[in-house]
Amino acid sequence: MCGFDFKDKYGELGEGFAECHHTIPVSELKDNQKTTLSDLSILCANCHRMIHRSKPMLSVSALKNQLKP
Ligand SMILES: [Zn+2]
Ligand SMILES: [Zn+2]
Repeated sequence: MCGFDFKDKYGELGEGFAECHHTIPVSELKDNQKTTLSDLSILCANCHRMIHRSKPMLSVSALKNQLKP
């Protein structure tokens, strides 16, 4: 989302590194509700933490709107 590439910064160590974010909080899933790929967003660790700083958490698009160029 922010374009941060861990491989650019950390070299081989950062290759393929990203975090997986549930757009529906796991605690709000119904018992038999399955998580589908469309419920997941791949974010860098920074964006992921920022989303979870707000309670209730920001949506991915809300964070995107706040990103500075
Ligand atoms: Zn998350
Ligand atoms: Zn990011």
